[in-house]
Amino acid sequence: MSTRPTATKFVEAEKWYFAVDCAKCGEAIAFAEAPSPQDDPTPKHATIRVRCPSCRKEHTYAAALISRRQGPEKE
Ligand SMILES: [Zn+2]
Repeated sequence: MSTRPTATKFVEAEKWYFAVDCAKCGEAIAFAEAPSPQDDPTPKHATIRVRCPSCRKEHTYAAALISRRQGPEKE
């Protein structure tokens, strides 16, 4: 089971996001909203450059490192 993103302000319960794990500190970085697996089973990615909200390290991530994750479940 993958880590669920928590660091970015637009992460909302039960929504889907594209995220990477920070190359420096390992924190999950959610950088874009994503369609659900039902809406788009095989989303395409380009290489992205994103700054970690936790350690502030900017890094380039290949498409293969990007995963789709879901926000926390509603209480
Ligand atoms: Zn980091």
